[in-house]
Amino acid sequence: MKDIYTVAHTHWDFEWYFTRQEARVQFIFHMDEVLEALETNQLDYYTLDGQMSIIEDYLALFPEKEVEIKKFVTAGRLFIGPWFTQIDEMTTSGESIVRNLKIGITEAKALGGVMRVGYLPDSFGQGQDMPKIYQGFDISHALFWRGMPREANARYFYWSSNDGSKVLTANIKNGYYAGVELVEQNQFDELAEKISTQTPSETHLLPVGGDQRAVDFDLKQRISLANQESEEATRFIESNYPVFFKSLENESEKLPELSGEFIEPSDSKIHRGIYSSRYDLKQVYDRLERSLTYQLEPLSVVAANHGIPVKQGLITSLWKIVARGQAHDSAGGCNSDKTNQDIYLRGVNGLQEAQSCVDYLLRKLSISLNHGQDNQVFLWNPLPFELTTIRKVALSTKTATFSLVDQKGQPVEVELLSQKRENAALLRRDPEAMSDEHYYVSEVAIECTLPSMGWLCFTVEETTVSVPQLTKATELENDWYVIQLKEGKLNLYSKELKKWYHDFLWFEDSGDEGDTYDYSPAFNDWFLKLDFSQHNQAMVEQGDLISRMTIEGEWALPFDLCSRKEQVTDGTVSYTMVLECNKQTNLIDVHLTLDNQVLDHRLRLMIATKTKAVVSTSDTPFGIIKRPIEEKHLPDWKEIGYKEEPTSMRPMLHLANLHDEKESWSFLTRGTKDFQVIDGERQQLAITVFRGVGYLGRPDTLRRPGDASGLQTKVVPTPDSQLVGTVVFEGSLVLDEFFDSQKLQTNYLETTQEALDYQTQELNRFTTPIQYFPVNPKSLIEDPRGKVTIDELTVVFSSLQATIDGTGIELRLYNPTDVAQTAPGKLSFDAPTEVKLLNLEGKVIDSVSENVTTLPMSAFKPGEIRTYGIFFNQKEME
Ligand SMILES: [Zn+2]
Repeated sequence: MKDIYTVAHTHWDFEWYFTRQEARVQFIFHMDEVLEALETNQLDYYTLDGQMSIIEDYLALFPEKEVEIKKFVTAGRLFIGPWFTQIDEMTTSGESIVRNLKIGITEAKALGGVMRVGYLPDSFGQGQDMPKIYQGFDISHALFWRGMPREANARYFYWSSNDGSKVLTANIKNGYYAGVELVEQNQFDELAEKISTQTPSETHLLPVGGDQRAVDFDLKQRISLANQESEEATRFIESNYPVFFKSLENESEKLPELSGEFIEPSDSKIHRGIYSSRYDLKQVYDRLERSLTYQLEPLSVVAANHGIPVKQGLITSLWKIVARGQAHDSAGGCNSDKTNQDIYLRGVNGLQEAQSCVDYLLRKLSISLNHGQDNQVFLWNPLPFELTTIRKVALSTKTATFSLVDQKGQPVEVELLSQKRENAALLRRDPEAMSDEHYYVSEVAIECTLPSMGWLCFTVEETTVSVPQLTKATELENDWYVIQLKEGKLNLYSKELKKWYHDFLWFEDSGDEGDTYDYSPAFNDWFLKLDFSQHNQAMVEQGDLISRMTIEGEWALPFDLCSRKEQVTDGTVSYTMVLECNKQTNLIDVHLTLDNQVLDHRLRLMIATKTKAVVSTSDTPFGIIKRPIEEKHLPDWKEIGYKEEPTSMRPMLHLANLHDEKESWSFLTRGTKDFQVIDGERQQLAITVFRGVGYLGRPDTLRRPGDASGLQTKVVPTPDSQLVGTVVFEGSLVLDEFFDSQKLQTNYLETTQEALDYQTQELNRFTTPIQYFPVNPKSLIEDPRGKVTIDELTVVFSSLQATIDGTGIELRLYNPTDVAQTAPGKLSFDAPTEVKLLNLEGKVIDSVSENVTTLPMSAFKPGEIRTYGIFFNQKEME
């Protein structure tokens, strides 16, 4: 017997070649039909695409519809959640995925109940950590379409993660639209046959729906016709996803177990080139993720400890902005220009709110703690461990010369990086009529050890002694490296490895005749190696704390694909690149600014190593992944029917790495997400800076033969996606002796701690956009009891936030490796504390300790994600 569970649904792209606004209008009318179909019993069940964002947008306009929606959800007829948006799994951080689910589940529960199915029918690739994320939300069932390799030969299976989590999973190989044939064609046996291959299961799934597809009111008649006309052993059943999975559980013994990610273009396109599409959108949302996770949330906890309430409403609304920008098409950037403009602007708006809240808290805390004293600078560390670091701070002073002293009156080591004289006089049309009032804004580097979840305060003293400055040098040097520019080539010496790497860093330019979905080489391509031989200016500045090399120049490039074919360099891209090292870490910060004035090309940073690696390594939401440098199906992908060339372009979240037993090269990214390892005499780590293309989808590209992606019959030009104009690229290069993912994630974390300072001063009222507004100091809790300190941490910090009910703190850590961490570190608290274990949803799952001030953490099993609920003893605090 073949039981085919037929599920009426719609797949609702949040935005794509249309905007969110356009889709929303379609949706408000769609909802009339959904509610009518349920009310009149023309449909028994309906699934609203597993995401709450569209329902939230709908209820914002029609709050009166809440009662009706609740009625059908509670009755188990309308299925909503668990996601807030249909997320992209490959380029979003673990915290973003967790928050997306958490918000979606909370909203669905408020409307009567959540569909606990890990439902991602269209996401471009399935991440290896999804089973453990799902299990963290008590989700035991998952569904996806894209990415399953044909040789896995499985349609229904158990999908497992490295921590032992397992979810029963349906791979809807024929797409989420497979059931449209049931309502539009009469070949029922053929359909039943098609959707039941590659499995011993007798329970099958047929989703009936499609992109923004209207309700199929005749589903019942079509099911009944199909049951009359198809073979006796086949039964179509009107159903829903939870019921289907319940039934599939009965067949569990027959089903295989698989683990890992699914990114093969066997049954559908997977768009590996999407990781490098629209770098600008990815950069903005990456910044917002970083700002929320590593600054605003932990700083809000610090502020709450001092008595300033957490602005949870703002924080949740910012996570929703992140989630909307990380819907699968939105994150991909494979959209029309007007849609991408909307996505970009929403991200920028979110950043303004996140940054302003950080700015407000830094100011409120600082002015309240120093009791009105002027000219003190506070450096903050919201993270729950001590940080020894070099902080860059902008100070405003009356005089050009000044010094810093600590609270004991001892001088603090500080180095001047740049200085600007600013006008302080009332502006007049005639500059002669203005008085001579000025102040100085100086960027300085300060070496400091910041306590966990706390601050240091220094006094700025205006003196006549100059601040030490960087001096001109011929090569850049710190405790780890020497970097030279010789004859246009960059040479690196590693003091740790005692090795020279000549010509170790350059850029590569090549054509891109793909589209916003995929990079594809030009049909007549020309690769150019871009070094620094044509530079206009090169300068090395050396100090005790900071050393940097600045190179400015122009690269001559083909203007477009025609010039590239002719190998003519009739276009120019001017650049400024800064390589910077400091005294405290072995990171080489790379900062590149370009004026892109050429079309249809891809630019990559190339790092030439001496590794002999067989895999590339990068991070995933809660782990590390090793992938082959060359895919096994690269030679035969066309013969085996792959929908696109399985080029080894890889996504990264925080880091890309290439290592062997002798050396380990990493790139810590700040927004760009795409890398590739190029094999050769010297293996190269290629990091995509950006790529510019002019179309949403193109047919018959070199890497992706066949129909255009997106719209098959309409050309959609996207001139904005050429990214003409300023391009900014940032990240850090690290050369270590060994690969250590925990160390690298800590390095990464330190790069997220910029601009967490506040100077109490009246001279400069423009340090932040909200500095102009008066703010009252507040009487604060001076000796807060909500502080957590982690020592000897050997797992990775993921997040620190207030619990939703505001009674405690959620601290999330994870073990990225496949080996247990037996001594993961020790937690210390300033006051007796109750510690519980929470799941990812924030529900208490276990009690750890009732009244402790220190807690050696128990071993982390391989891949474990652990969330502590930390509740300070309320009575003790009062
Ligand atoms: Zn979609």
